Amino acid sequence: MTYRITLIPGDGIGPEISRATQRVIEATGVRIDWDVQEAGEAMIARYGEPLPPNVIDSIRRNKVAIKGPITTPVGKGFRSVNVGLRKALDLYSNVRPCKTRPGVRSRYDNIDLVVVRENTEDLYAGIEFPQGRAEVAALIEWIAQRTGATIREDSAISIKPISITGSRRIVEFAFKYAEDNNRRKVTAVHKANIMKATDGLFLQVAEQVAAEHPGIQFENVIVDNMCMQLVQRPELYDVLVLSNLYGDIVSDLCAGLVGGLGVAPGANFGTEVALFEPIHGSAPKYAGQDKANPMAMMYSAVMMLHWINEHEAADKLERALDQTIAEGVNVTYDLKQNRDDPSAKRTSEVAEALVKKIESM
Ligand code: NAD
Repeated sequence: MTYRITLIPGDGIGPEISRATQRVIEATGVRIDWDVQEAGEAMIARYGEPLPPNVIDSIRRNKVAIKGPITTPVGKGFRSVNVGLRKALDLYSNVRPCKTRPGVRSRYDNIDLVVVRENTEDLYAGIEFPQGRAEVAALIEWIAQRTGATIREDSAISIKPISITGSRRIVEFAFKYAEDNNRRKVTAVHKANIMKATDGLFLQVAEQVAAEHPGIQFENVIVDNMCMQLVQRPELYDVLVLSNLYGDIVSDLCAGLVGGLGVAPGANFGTEVALFEPIHGSAPKYAGQDKANPMAMMYSAVMMLHWINEHEAADKLERALDQTIAEGVNVTYDLKQNRDDPSAKRTSEVAEALVKKIESM
């Protein structure tokens, strides 16, 4: 059987790590007819927008996609393509497993947790009122009249919508994930002591969903305490479920606990489609240098292979990655004890070594 899968190479280091990932997937013997789609800043000149409709159409058609990172300008310019994709495809659930892999430099050796992040609501909804615009003045005025609260007139405002619907489906996803993957506990992370309306609602819904899943333990932790707990006693946690912004921040923290972004995979699930991608960004300073670590995207491919039920190929790729990291020879600079180690391998050399290892399995 040949699968048709959308590949979005992205920009920055994206194209290099995507090529490397294609090679190792093909080495597992799974046949894929890649539907390659470009997105990002370079597409503005060609299509007038960074996320052309044909990219969305391709993912809707193929149902499965894997992507490299895409650069987002900070504080100005076009809106994040990644956020756009998540919204257009209603990819409401972002799953980021964080597991200690022997051979990766880390302060901990016993972490195996999964961050489940809500992907469509919260401060990432993109409802923003830039400072100085007439709309923000009107909003400030409206808030003053309705609530009596004073907001400085030179403010900008971002809106944080949290719904029962959005909260319920992400918490249900987290419990189902826990049940399907033999996990024991779900922890809901929030700041409901301060944001009683929004985070309070998230927590209330989480408690309701937890009561429907008595086989899985449930607890809730306030996000700032969670950050400290994760640094001090990460082994206590299993599946974390968070709204969008906390999920983004805490999952990078967890990636740091297990040795950094170079080995941290991710997946986004909607009701219809699944999109797999590394957590890290486009690392522009390494673009085109054949230097970046392709393994986070490769571990994302492991998740993708499981998703399409190619479990044997997924296990083979994961074993090859784990062994290669443990051996510490055919790895990029970031997995060496000393980052300036001249024996660090290039992206393409890592792919080459993995292909050989997979073919010899
Ligand atoms: P980044 O993840 O690109 O880089 C953070 C640090 O990690 C840098 O030092 C970088 O060199 C290093 N790094 C990242 N990936 C690496 C890899 N595979 N191998 C070795 N080193 C690696 O984060 P950033 O600098 O905050 O963001 C750069 C751009 O990427 C921004 O435009 C941001 O918006 C975008 N971004 C995209 C995505 C995505 O496409 N899903 C995710 C995060 C950031």
